[in-house]
Amino acid sequence: MKLPVSLQPLADYQPERVRAALVELLAPLGGMAAFVRPGQKVLLKPNLLAGKPPEKAVTTHPEVVRQVILLVQEAGGVVSVGDSPGIGHPEAVARKCGILAAVEATGARFAPFIDSVPVKVQEGTFHHLEVAREVLDADVIINLPKLKTHQMMGFTGAVKNMFGAVVGMRKVRLHLQAGADPAFFALMLLELAERFPPALTIMDAVVGMEGNGPGSGDPVPIGALLASPHALALDTAAIALVGLNERQVWTQRVATESGRAGSRLAEIDLLGPELAGLRPKRFRPAPNSDIGFGLPAPVKRALRNTVTARPEIAAGCVRCGDCVRHCPPHAMTLDRHGVQIDYHRCIRCFCCQELCPHGAILTRQGALLRIAAFFGGKR
Ligand code: SF4
Ligand code: SF4
Repeated sequence: MKLPVSLQPLADYQPERVRAALVELLAPLGGMAAFVRPGQKVLLKPNLLAGKPPEKAVTTHPEVVRQVILLVQEAGGVVSVGDSPGIGHPEAVARKCGILAAVEATGARFAPFIDSVPVKVQEGTFHHLEVAREVLDADVIINLPKLKTHQMMGFTGAVKNMFGAVVGMRKVRLHLQAGADPAFFALMLLELAERFPPALTIMDAVVGMEGNGPGSGDPVPIGALLASPHALALDTAAIALVGLNERQVWTQRVATESGRAGSRLAEIDLLGPELAGLRPKRFRPAPNSDIGFGLPAPVKRALRNTVTARPEIAAGCVRCGDCVRHCPPHAMTLDRHGVQIDYHRCIRCFCCQELCPHGAILTRQGALLRIAAFFGGKR
């Protein structure tokens, strides 16, 4: 049986239009009542990466969050909204991006992910995970990702958004565990989203982020909302919507290679307007790292500085040291000349680029990738 993914056009965040589009979006899936029963504890998990204003397209737009809260409340659910941002206290981040005001205006509860609970997992590769208590306590999880590029994974959407269930610096540990292997990290993301599956994902792709995402890219109008009870299937549709393919997105590549349901467009029942009709005029992928030449891992490791992209400190660095404190393998130092990166230790996780509050870390493509792109061999 095909997995349903619903799509609706939505040009802006005008409140009445957001509500109407959400109602239309959920109608073919049975409406909000198909996911929420009266009295259930419903956790909304937006993308709360950093304290940036909504127009920067770093976080899920507060109007989408507000209207989803209202729909859940109308279905009888008791709503809390939470996440664990990359940097900063969740409440401060939520205030800056407008989500806290949306929560307070509706009488819902803001639930910062602070308490972390170890969970044993019987199946899969990762047998010990630790997630926010709020995730375990919820009867229903509704995932509210923002469609964005991602330097390490290529794309962040439904699957990657559930990484926020891991509290604070514990994310850094998982990056370190994956090391320089993006496929291993992608597998962890997939297993996390499978172990703590959202009952429903609603993606904010009204304005997405292209280029240097997920923290420092450019907002790009896409003009759509997507919804599905199946997170991976929703990502498959979203990736197709913006013209990416599974070779450019690690979670998608690993999902396809491991035969996961919903990783191919042919397995999806698209509900709503034609995907092609909603496709944005332009969408710049992340200038990211591994070009998948099919080289064996030891060769790739040896050629890493040539083959792969790497973070570079650009103008605008105020030497706050946030990147240095969050670099998983401690490859960054701050001295009187500014931030220095030891590229032999750097695992290309791009946490620094993701978290820099000043957008002062850019991605420089490896020389081979630039040559490949020049001769039209770019993936
Ligand atoms: S690169 Fe960004 S995070 Fe790092 S020290 Fe400079 S401003 Fe701070
Ligand atoms: S320098 Fe940046 S990309 Fe490299 S390991 Fe540190 S955080 Fe990751």
